[in-house]
Amino acid sequence: MESHHLIFNAHPLSRYSLAALIGAIETDHRLSNLSIDAPIKLSVKRILKSVASGPTVLAYSVMSTQTKRIYKEVRGIRESLGNSVIIIGGGAHASARPMELLEKGFDYAVIGEGELSLPELLWCFMNDKDPTSIPGVVGETSRKCPIPRDLEPVDLDAQPPFALRMNIVGPIEVTRGCPFSCKFCCTPFLTGGRVRNRSVSVIVHWLKQAVERSGFDRTWFLSPNALSYGGRGRTVEADRLEELLRAVTGIAGIDEVFFGSFPSEVRPEFVTKPILEMMRQYVANKSLQIGLQSSSDRLLKQTNRHHTAEEGMKAISTALDCGFIPHVDMIFGLPGETTKELHESIDLCYSLAEMGAKTHGHVFMPLPGSAYQNEEPGKLDPESRRLLGELSRKKLLTGSWSAQEDMARDLSSSKS
Ligand code: SF4
Repeated sequence: MESHHLIFNAHPLSRYSLAALIGAIETDHRLSNLSIDAPIKLSVKRILKSVASGPTVLAYSVMSTQTKRIYKEVRGIRESLGNSVIIIGGGAHASARPMELLEKGFDYAVIGEGELSLPELLWCFMNDKDPTSIPGVVGETSRKCPIPRDLEPVDLDAQPPFALRMNIVGPIEVTRGCPFSCKFCCTPFLTGGRVRNRSVSVIVHWLKQAVERSGFDRTWFLSPNALSYGGRGRTVEADRLEELLRAVTGIAGIDEVFFGSFPSEVRPEFVTKPILEMMRQYVANKSLQIGLQSSSDRLLKQTNRHHTAEEGMKAISTALDCGFIPHVDMIFGLPGETTKELHESIDLCYSLAEMGAKTHGHVFMPLPGSAYQNEEPGKLDPESRRLLGELSRKKLLTGSWSAQEDMARDLSSSKS
């Protein structure tokens, strides 16, 4: 039988989805003859070598902030290799703008959660079938593009969070979906409003496997709002949360558990003293990632955050009282933000620094799939840039805020 190959670009900026997607492929027995390669850096030479030994699919997880790099790479590959390789793209940008991917040289775009449709697509590739019959796969002959919420949601318990055969492990996704609809965020569009939790027994199963097979000794979690674990996303389920933390910290070989810190965050109104005191007994993280986003109640309301700045400040004080260093997410340049409001948000970052907290700064980006996708990109005035630069130099501000101003502009101009 002819050997088929998958090359999955494992660029560090799309690494979170990689472990789960390759995990879904390597545990699908129908694909056991597929050879899988996941290089961090792709080269035409590597793809050529693969094509010479059998039919090859090249896969990208396409985030909206990475399109410039990926489209340039795909153009180069097409120029060198023509149509001898099948190029597919999934991820946030593919879900929101599938036709754009096809225009840029991709053969297929995978819409929504990839754990079900990507293995199906690869099975079609290995068996000479047309993958556009798969719900969620769009190609040149497709008549319409579905949207993620109309596709079958993935049952997290039925899917591996890691690719253990290839030793690709990362933060374990414990919750998917978010019932809130903050207008700057594309999570509700991508994963829907219905919250799905990976059960404690399944999380423990995979972590034990990761300890045994990959030498895993510390773990992080992925969740849109870590303190909502176990419920439907709108309340803290203290017993379920403690059950999870007790179980994962009890796994032999796991020395440190990081929960509620980057890459997860927590919504301010979920932060209470009893919950943080409980967490403190289990977790190793010194920081707690809290989403505040703005100091302006007017903007918090307009963006649909459903909490006030005061609730944010209360959460920050509570975190400090419980021995956590709050890392506070702030977005500068939100649609309709006045210069006064921008400066007030930056003043707040200075106040946070005095309190002992840090800021994780972002410049507003009109992310495809978000309610704000057609808004103007965020922009900083010179004084704001200077003040944020000063906080950065003092290590009181982290995040990609300075690069995001350019990324936001690129995103906005790519629409036209
Ligand atoms: S910002 Fe957080 S709470 Fe708001 S919609 Fe996105 S994931 Fe949900």
